[in-house]
Amino acid sequence: MTQALKQHLIDPEICIRCHTCEMTCPIGAIQHNDDNVVVDPDACNFCMDCIPVCPTGSIDEWRVVAQHYSLDDQFGWEELPEQEAINTLSSDAGAEAMDPVVVALLNEAHKGAGGKSRAPKSAAKPAINMYTIKAPATATVQGNFRLTAEGSDTDTRHIILNFEGQTFPVLEGQTIGIIPPGSNTAGNANLPRLYSVSSPRDGERPNFGNVSLTVKRETHGLASNFICDLQAGDTVQVTGPFGSTFLLPEDPDARLLMICTGTGSAPMRAFTMRRERIVGKKPGGMTMIFGARAPEELPYFGPLKKLPVDLLQTHMVFSRLPGTPKEYVQDRMMVERKSIAELLTDNKTYIYVCGLRGMEEGVEKTFNSIAESVGTSWAELRDTMLEQGRYHVETY
Ligand code: NAP
Repeated sequence: MTQALKQHLIDPEICIRCHTCEMTCPIGAIQHNDDNVVVDPDACNFCMDCIPVCPTGSIDEWRVVAQHYSLDDQFGWEELPEQEAINTLSSDAGAEAMDPVVVALLNEAHKGAGGKSRAPKSAAKPAINMYTIKAPATATVQGNFRLTAEGSDTDTRHIILNFEGQTFPVLEGQTIGIIPPGSNTAGNANLPRLYSVSSPRDGERPNFGNVSLTVKRETHGLASNFICDLQAGDTVQVTGPFGSTFLLPEDPDARLLMICTGTGSAPMRAFTMRRERIVGKKPGGMTMIFGARAPEELPYFGPLKKLPVDLLQTHMVFSRLPGTPKEYVQDRMMVERKSIAELLTDNKTYIYVCGLRGMEEGVEKTFNSIAESVGTSWAELRDTMLEQGRYHVETY
């Protein structure tokens, strides 16, 4: 019987090349080339440290193989190979003669196949990985505007980049990489940092080839300080675009429920602007629950307040208002449980969760109790929504 080996892989179609797994792997088993981030089969010991840090789930791919896919194989992939048929793993026997350990491995390899995020069926086809670390695009900074109130501790900025004639097609929900100049302490060139585009596909200003980002200055943050200090006219090296699942349905009747914290609002802004330009007002079409510490720290607070409810039903919730109890997005979901339950029953509803990793658990629990209150199993509904490209989570 041919020996069967378990192999850890990364889905190149879904990976957004944030390199978090690579930075997390304690034994250096994750590497990248110009195109892909891959796992070295000779080094990976299945410690699983990289699994929870991946924002997209692209890291959670497994195959049982007769022979490992090499690093070179993986560097060349544009998509993952299918799991090999069981009888190709066994030289002279059918599945029934397979070693039970191998069968168990195969089952494990298939586990979760339906649990991954998928693009909405009607989403436009995204371009991915057009510009790489070795061959990035060059963008010129067109504007850099502070979004948070002067004097507030949080410095979040709206950055507009212009690609001036270079083709850089992005869809709402995709990310791009910004390469901070210089190198790290080991002397290696800095890796790109990923940011969601916050403008719609036809640009911040329609058809002017510009893309906007929403970037918060982090204390000691290499890339965020570089970006937040950029001046109009400066140039930056850009990779991407990345991401093929956290996308907008093209169906004008789709209803969006967007739940975000802080700069996790970036893709929601892109979604909202796209829908405003293409679909226009549609009562109940878009709902957003947006959490920040205070109004002065909520990106796009002023413009959001002005949007008509027929376009976007906005719930802004604040966690650090003096004299007011802390409110998180999941608390407001509970307050709005009736309308959320109604959304959950509509198969035109698409849910997007984006922002702090910590919000994920609270949001999940709240969906669970809202679904339960109307006699629905959230676990089952979520799996169906994932399968149909209607449930999307991107948290860091
Ligand atoms: P933040 O200002 O630190 O937090 C936003 C709000 O979330 C605050 O009110 C905070 O409350 C609250 N919060 C904290 N823990 C929570 C929890 N467990 N459940 C629910 N709410 C919670 O946010 P931020 O620094 O802007 O972070 C946004 C995140 O989005 C980052 O992780 C970023 O990487 C990610 N992201 C950014 C982009 C982008 O393009 N820039 C795109 C996608 C995702 P308290 O602090 O008062 O507890």
